[in-house]
Amino acid sequence: MISRSVVALILIVFLCVSPAPSQAKKAVFDGLAALEYIKVLASDAMFGRKSGEPGSEAAAEYIASKLKGWGLEPAGANGGYFQELTYEYYEVEKGAALGIVAHNRTRDFVYGEDWRQYRYSGSLTAGAGIVFVGYGISAPQKQYDDYSGVDVKDKLVLFAVETPRRLESALREEAQLANRIKAAQEHGARGVLTFRSDTQAGAASYRGGPRKDIYRPGFVLISIEAKVVDFIFKWQRADPRFFFQQIEATGKPQSYDLGVQSLVNLKVDFDEKRPTKNVLARITGTDGNLKSEFVIVGAHMDHLGIDMTGDVLNGADDNASGTAVVMEAARVMKLNSFKPKRTIIFALWAAEEEGLLGSKYYTENPLYPLDKTVANINLDMEGHGTGQVGASGAYYAPEVWEILKARLPKEVLDNTVPGRGGPGGSDHTHFLYNGVPAFMVGTSGPHFKTNRVGDVIGLIKPEILKNSGQFVMAALEVLSAEAKVPIIARRKETFFWRFETIVNQRTPALDEVIQEHKDVQDPDVDFQLAAVGGKAGLAGDALRVELMKDLWAGKARLAETKGLALFGGQAPAGGGMMGVRGPSKTTVLLGLQGVAAFRDDLRWADVFSKQGIGFVTLDQPGPFFGDRGLNDEGKRVLEAIGKANLLLIVKGLDPGQMKSLLENASKPVFLQTSTLPGKEILDLVKKTESTVGLVLGKDEDAVSYVRKVDEAKKAIGAEYLSIVSENCLWEKAGRSQMLDIVAELLKAKYEVEDLANLFSGAFMRALNRAIRP
Ligand SMILES: [Zn+2]
Repeated sequence: MISRSVVALILIVFLCVSPAPSQAKKAVFDGLAALEYIKVLASDAMFGRKSGEPGSEAAAEYIASKLKGWGLEPAGANGGYFQELTYEYYEVEKGAALGIVAHNRTRDFVYGEDWRQYRYSGSLTAGAGIVFVGYGISAPQKQYDDYSGVDVKDKLVLFAVETPRRLESALREEAQLANRIKAAQEHGARGVLTFRSDTQAGAASYRGGPRKDIYRPGFVLISIEAKVVDFIFKWQRADPRFFFQQIEATGKPQSYDLGVQSLVNLKVDFDEKRPTKNVLARITGTDGNLKSEFVIVGAHMDHLGIDMTGDVLNGADDNASGTAVVMEAARVMKLNSFKPKRTIIFALWAAEEEGLLGSKYYTENPLYPLDKTVANINLDMEGHGTGQVGASGAYYAPEVWEILKARLPKEVLDNTVPGRGGPGGSDHTHFLYNGVPAFMVGTSGPHFKTNRVGDVIGLIKPEILKNSGQFVMAALEVLSAEAKVPIIARRKETFFWRFETIVNQRTPALDEVIQEHKDVQDPDVDFQLAAVGGKAGLAGDALRVELMKDLWAGKARLAETKGLALFGGQAPAGGGMMGVRGPSKTTVLLGLQGVAAFRDDLRWADVFSKQGIGFVTLDQPGPFFGDRGLNDEGKRVLEAIGKANLLLIVKGLDPGQMKSLLENASKPVFLQTSTLPGKEILDLVKKTESTVGLVLGKDEDAVSYVRKVDEAKKAIGAEYLSIVSENCLWEKAGRSQMLDIVAELLKAKYEVEDLANLFSGAFMRALNRAIRP
């Protein structure tokens, strides 16, 4: 660092030689000033700034008073600096304890290591006996009840969260964790102890965690580790493994009172509507037109409060640092009487650590129109690292990133590490979901104390804060002054189009796919089915030789194509990722058009599978069905496809054929249809873990198609439902039709998870199950 006297000297020389000294020297972002704000925010007196607690409210007051003192205009609700909101506050009080008394011996277990509570656990300070109830499933109407013959009133029930496959398909509803908890409540227990038995090879874990309606003030939800289970069973006649084997062998519950006592001390503070607030200030734009457009720079000011041992989680880096950078940028811009053309909003969000709630609330109740908001810059963790500034978001807002790239001063740009971006992890997320170009800005390199007690002021480097501050100020100057920051048409739909994993369900020839992707950078179609050809007219071994040649040559050409990657055996997860990630490629799944390649010799299904074929389509199912459904050949072909771990994609079936196919299927099937099948068939779809591909016709209108999707979702759930476009999605018509569909789905308030299922999740699930031996 250069010394102050040298700076003064340079300044004097500059002033002396400067021919036009009329302009006052511009203030610059001061890292040491930012450090001072962090000292306050991350002090023990703020108690870790958990939203809804006095410390965070004090932090909000402190920030607002600073902004006001520096002359920033209020930008909150009702002419003030705040936007009030409430959130669901849930906190375990200090001193949580669990002891077990077995065989006259008492052992205490460590909270957070040996055991923890589920969200929506209530409180209990009492001793209670423990009753083992196997899987905790109560379904007497289906001849299975872990509660039959045991009295669990005022006891804790102990059960494993897995479900053996055999029970899982029959007791899908009842096996959901929420329903197991309800069963315990209905039988008069005071709480549940759950554990992972890990003895059930291939067993499914429960689906769906506890929800709010499960909460009872005096009912505890506790999960325990193997160590606790071992102690509970130490003097029992057998281990849990034995009882689960018995259940498996006999189909009968093995519940009994263990004669073991628990000593529970768990107190939770649950407040459905705890008040907290965002802080907002602004510098109003000066341009007559542009001042009603907005740039929002934000950071979350809250952190995690106090941990179970009573230590304060100061959150200096996460995210007093980002808060301080926003504050200092505001101060300096105001000090310089900066005159932006657009209005700049400085926002400090509440309850980020509770699930991005403050910024989410803002996007649901925007104080400035989101469709006039040109960009959001979000700061999270600016105090550690290498000093380079990561700025992620280019893939989702290339039109904004291009402007920044062209206009940012060279020294700022040189110190910036751009990333692809995407939602998740911080407060830019809900801006993206609403179509606002949003950049996640955090300093590069390790942030070594995230969410730990050691995230304290002493580790924060003011020069790193300054780098981040210089980026933010420069970006704000560009975005608030640039005459045209495009607000593209259909921003929200375009975001989801880019964000979702898009599967192109058409199955063109591999050659066509390769031709199309020769020069594609970061394509929007993420997953592509492609058929390996075979010359028309060939059959038997001659056909197989041709196919095998095509397959090998195709794989080699695919490996050389920049925008493509060969499917590697595990379907990609849906959605984008936070942080720095390179451009993505289209993953290609190879398949066979029809079963001609192995119809005469079924062993070849397996050979093709081993050479990288993943699916087989059946477009003309006629020959494989008779009056009473699947004929003998059909059954053999279906069996061979299942055994070879190929996904069967089938279309053009009538309801009777669908039923027969699913009844005979050992593996999930991808069942394409333009009309939703009836309940009997849908039940079979669930049972076989198949997926319904609802076909979207080439000219089908979005409103009526989404109505169809809606009906289907109600009947079977998005988990089993996939959109199948007849149009090719890398072509303009297909893309545009799909944006219409996205618009309708968003209008109908589909959740992000539902969209993920419809666009790829349900298909991928069926695929992953089908290709697994
Ligand atoms: Zn954070």
